[in-house]
This record gives sequence, C-alpha cells and structure tokens, in this order.
Amino acid sequence: MPQTSTSSPSNTPVDTDVLIVGAGPTGLTLGAALARRGIATTLVDRLAAGVNTSRAAVVHARTLEALEPLGVAERLDRLGVHAKRFTIRDRDRVLVPIDFTSLPTRYPYTLMVSQAVTEGVLLERLTELGGRVLRPRSLVALTQAADHVEAQFDDGSRCRARFLVGADGMHSRVREASGIAFTGDSYGESFVLADVHLSGGVPHDEVILYFSPAGMVVVAPLPDHAHRIVATVDDAPEVPDAAYVQALLDARGPERERAVVRDVIWGSRFRVHHRVADTYRDRRVLLAGDAAHVHSPAGGQGMNVGILDALHLSNALIQALAGDTAALDAYGQARRPVAQQVVALAHRLTRMATVRPRLRGLRNMLLGLASKLPPLRRQLAWRLSGLVYR
Ligand SMILES: Cc1cc2nc3c(=O)[nH]c(=O)nc-3n(C[C@H](O)[C@H](O)[C@H](O)COP(=O)(O)OP(=O)(O)OC[C@H]3O[C@@H](n4cnc5c(N)ncnc54)[C@H](O)[C@@H]3O)c2cc1C
Repeated sequence: MPQTSTSSPSNTPVDTDVLIVGAGPTGLTLGAALARRGIATTLVDRLAAGVNTSRAAVVHARTLEALEPLGVAERLDRLGVHAKRFTIRDRDRVLVPIDFTSLPTRYPYTLMVSQAVTEGVLLERLTELGGRVLRPRSLVALTQAADHVEAQFDDGSRCRARFLVGADGMHSRVREASGIAFTGDSYGESFVLADVHLSGGVPHDEVILYFSPAGMVVVAPLPDHAHRIVATVDDAPEVPDAAYVQALLDARGPERERAVVRDVIWGSRFRVHHRVADTYRDRRVLLAGDAAHVHSPAGGQGMNVGILDALHLSNALIQALAGDTAALDAYGQARRPVAQQVVALAHRLTRMATVRPRLRGLRNMLLGLASKLPPLRRQLAWRLSGLVYR
C-alpha cells in the first residue's frame, strides 16, 4: 500500500490519505480495496495479531459477488463448505425449506467458512497489494481540522490523515470520540456458541435452525467436517463443554437420528445487541462495519454487511479524495438503511426464536403454513443471500 507523504489542498502535511482504525474483515476489505486503487492508506489495529476465533461463519452470495473485483472471492470460495439449503425445523419436521440453488448468481449457496479464514484471505490480498497492518497500535483520541484528522495512539505516536475510518468494531473508540450515538438495545437472553465435531443426525450441506418446543438451536456445517452450534439460553456457561452441547442437541435438535457430539473445538458465550449509529459521517470521520451497526447473529449478516460497507466506502473515499466529498454523505445514505433493514430482519428472527414456550406450537404452525407460499420462501432466499441489496 503506498505510504508516501501527501499534501492536502491547503498544504497541511498529512502522513496518509486514509487512516483505517481496525483490521477486522471491514478494515481489511477497505484497506485492500484502496490499495488496489493506489490510495495512500494506513491500517492500524490494537491487537498484536488477528483473533483466531471462529465468530462469523457465513459468507453470502452477494458478498462473494462484490469481492470478485478484489480478487478474493475465488480463494475464499475454495476454502469453505457450500450449504445449498437453509431449513427451519421443529425437531425432525421441516417447517420452512429455503433452497438457494435456483438463485441467479454464480454462488447459489451460503459459503460456510470461519471468520479467521476470511480475515486470512483478506490480509493475504492486502499484503499482495503492498499493504500491511501496523499493530499493536490503539487509537486513543482524534481531533478534526478543516482539511485533516489527527489521530493519537496509545504508544504516543500520531498520524495525520485526510480521512479517518472507524472500522474498530462494536465498542468503536472512533464512534465514541466523534460523539456519534449508537441507538438501540440489548437482548436479555445469552447465546452459547460452539464449533464441534458431530456424528450422524444432520446433513453437511445445509444450515438448520431448529425451532423446537424446548428452544432454538442452529446447526451449520463448517470446513474440516465440523459444525457450528448456536443456541439461546437463559444463562450460558463461559465455555460450553461436549456434555452441555449434547444436552442442547438432544433437547432441541434431531430426534429420529441423534447427532452425537464427538468433541468441542472452540466454544464461547455472548450477549447480543441491536444498534445502528445515528450517522455514518462526522466531517472527515466515517464509520463502517460493527462500528456502525450490530445485531443478532440470526441470518448471519453482520460481517457481510461490514464487507459491503467497506467496498462502498472505498469508492466514496476515492471520489472524496478527488474533491467530491458529497460522495461520503451518499455512502451513509445508501448503507445506513441497509443496516436498519438487516437489524430489523435479525430482530424478527431472534424474537421468533425466543418466543415464550407456550407460544412455540402456534409459531411453528403459522410458520409451516406461511412457508407453503413460494413467494415467501423466495423472498427469504433473496434476503438471506444478500442478493436483495444488489
Ligand atoms: C460469537 C460471534 C458469532 C458471530 N457470528 C456471525 C455470523 O455467523 N455471521 C456474520 O456475518 N457475523 C457474525 N458475527 C459478527 C461478526 O463477527 C462481526 O460482524 C464482524 O467481526 C465485524 O467486523 P468488523 O471488521 O466491522 O469489526 P471487528 O471484527 O470487531 O474488528 C474490529 C477491529 O478493530 C480493532 N480495534 C478496536 N478498537 C481499536 C482501537 N481503539 N484502535 C485500533 N484498533 C482497534 C479490534 O482489535 C478488531 O481487530 C459474530 C460475532 C460473534 C462475536
């Protein structure tokens, strides 16, 4: 990535055109997209190395399409599992079958791949394009002037940039320092998440959302014959073990043929928020990814929306660097409503997943009836794949 010193129109010396704070999937995508266009960019992250945990496991068709020009779609596609179907089930009974195979895309499936792998592919591409991540370097403060932003880091160093992007996740320091509100709320339930090896009970090319009388559990395939399990519970253990995950599957998962947990590769618990930043721009500061929006993992959209934010923002920044700063407002006007729609869809799915036990039978009956309507199934396939946002 070119790191040459440039000058702003009023000749204030700047170190870089764009400073990106945060090297998660959003920051890495933005860094690579700008590097590809020869923009002087600096990317920093507070961690000494990338996080190696799984987190987002879903890459949607629209995201793969959008990543093609960057030269990463094919690489990523090779490393994941193609899930051709998504079903909502009540134990063994299919309530809603969603088929991705007839979607008009080169990727008629959901790509299941761990976030660590996705970040690895993006970092590899960034490096090929001449970029790198300066780490560990944590942004602690920023000040805006008429023609630049000055960032201050925890090691005492400073950086002047023509534009600064907060891709620094849910607890964004950039958002906070810019006084941008993060409006929304949190869910009461906690989520338990585990990547496991399973035998029997579930197919390896389908994402299943079990809406069973005892509660919700998602079972999704991952590479290397692993499965991702996500469930809502009242009080999740800090690290779920095999017995805990087995009990969840026995109570909520397939009944006819038991899915047996052989081992837990990695597990965690988390709480979920649904929030959207009040604005994506404060003069020369922009927000993207989780810094701008967070929601329940239902629908697996979070990382996908962040990657697409980054690709839109790269074009807007290129226009702004050429003098058209209105492109930066257009970025927020285009992307904020998308985040609001995704947050609303994830919220509906989460509320449906967590209805009170006595309403679960009614919910499942209504879902079964509604799913008989092909347009509804088609609409869900378009929404889940992200193709609706083309
Ligand atoms: C358990 C779990 C499961 C999930 N499952 C899914 C899923 O199935 N599908 C999906 O799409 N999404 C999922 N998500 C959400 C997904 O992980 C996020 O949407 C995604 O990581 C957002 O990417 P990001 O780059 O915007 O932010 P992050 O990945 O949070 O990256 C932000 C980066 O900024 C750095 N940073 C923070 N503060 C500073 C600072 N002050 N200075 C410098 N650097 C800083 C951090 O170190 C980090 O590297 C899940 C999340 C969790 C926690």
